[in-house]
Amino acid sequence: MKTLTFPGGVHPSSSKEATRDKRIEEAKIPERVIIPLIQHTGAPCEALVSKGDRVRVGQKIGEAKAFVSAPVHATISGEVTEIKPLPYPLGLDTTSLVIQSDGKDEWLEGQDGPSPYRPLANTASPYPLPPRERIDWKTLSPEEIRETIREAGLVGLGGAAFPTHVKLSPPKGKKIDAYILNGAECEPYLTCDYRLMVERPREILEGFRILMATLGVKNGYIGIEDNKWEAISAMGREVKGEPNIQMKVLKTKYPQGGEKQLIKAILRREVPSGGLPFDVGVLVSNVGTAFSCLEAVVSGKPLVERVVTVTGPGVKEPKNLRVRIGTPISDLIEECGGFNGQQGKIIIGGPMMGLAQFTAEVPVIKGTSGILVLTDALGDEEITCIRCGKCIQSCPLYLMPNMISLYAKRGRFDEAKGYGALDCIECGACAYGCPARIPLVQWIKYAKSELTKKKSQ
Ligand code: SF4
Ligand code: SF4
Repeated sequence: MKTLTFPGGVHPSSSKEATRDKRIEEAKIPERVIIPLIQHTGAPCEALVSKGDRVRVGQKIGEAKAFVSAPVHATISGEVTEIKPLPYPLGLDTTSLVIQSDGKDEWLEGQDGPSPYRPLANTASPYPLPPRERIDWKTLSPEEIRETIREAGLVGLGGAAFPTHVKLSPPKGKKIDAYILNGAECEPYLTCDYRLMVERPREILEGFRILMATLGVKNGYIGIEDNKWEAISAMGREVKGEPNIQMKVLKTKYPQGGEKQLIKAILRREVPSGGLPFDVGVLVSNVGTAFSCLEAVVSGKPLVERVVTVTGPGVKEPKNLRVRIGTPISDLIEECGGFNGQQGKIIIGGPMMGLAQFTAEVPVIKGTSGILVLTDALGDEEITCIRCGKCIQSCPLYLMPNMISLYAKRGRFDEAKGYGALDCIECGACAYGCPARIPLVQWIKYAKSELTKKKSQ
């Protein structure tokens, strides 16, 4: 089968061996969860509960008042013990609700008895979906599906955490003719999407059908890198005979899973500078999002858990775990046997786009796909740029990261903008190969945030 790709990019070691063959396990129900009121792109939620309130799993505890936002739900049953700013994996402290477990794991019940989506303890399957077609999604209108997805707090699970109901509401006049299901998982170390594709291809595909049907898109594509043959074969079996959905095998290269790179590789369309996929008639969703979409629409299950890869040389027993959102990452490291020797750097996400943490007490949030524990402090000291041009060759957007970071460092943000700073997707491919160990992405992010601030003034 022909493999597709995009120009530029880099080839970091995949480092997925530690978890690629490990089935998804259900993590222990945590004793306490920390639920930040913002876990998505857009406006934060407003708390619907107060300190001392009792909550059950699936209960909405944060309301999204803005359109670009997503509600948050209780992920364990128990008592709300605190509402205050707490460490947050994406940066500054943010207002969060702490729920102390009552040990009962009581879910909100449906009108006709126990919750249809309650996980069954000690079952072989980590994904006990309710009887299929409990709600026949084909009887729902696109508006009803969007509203169900919004109420379930569904966001993109690939990392950016963009609210899914917003993605499914492109501006009027933008015709979407292609939908790509992103199974590339190009970040080194991470295997949560891979395992989901191997273990739950049927559910992922059904979720993808729902996403496509909501917008009436006729052409679906599934993009998977060519180092994931088990996933290609599992998804390929399910898609066989489906006239509107095609499997596309992608060359293993970083950042193949970036939306713009996927669109270029599969459809040969180029998202314009400053544009979004819908500008070229395309939407892209991650495989985990499609799976959670099925759970939300068919069984009414809000986004209270997700699959997370806990891995790296700094953890004793790497695993793929299905985890309640809000679980402190220290619990998950413990569940994986604890630190392997002295505690090293903890990164949320993968090594290319992930963020280093200063405490293991931050929670898993909706966009957390991995926890990477390293053993050593990374790299040596930074030196001056030697003008080798490697960063320029690696950039999939044809930017000059060396120039953008140089101008950012000097506070000359307009010049950084002139070199396309705002188009950077923060993939980290430039910094990966930089022999001078310049933190190019940090400088570019800094320029972007200063330019955004300036624009809003
Ligand atoms: S400049 Fe941005 S888009 Fe280009 S390689 Fe670096 S991080 Fe990726
Ligand atoms: S890769 Fe590093 S050293 Fe080489 S040109 Fe880019 S910034 Fe300079």
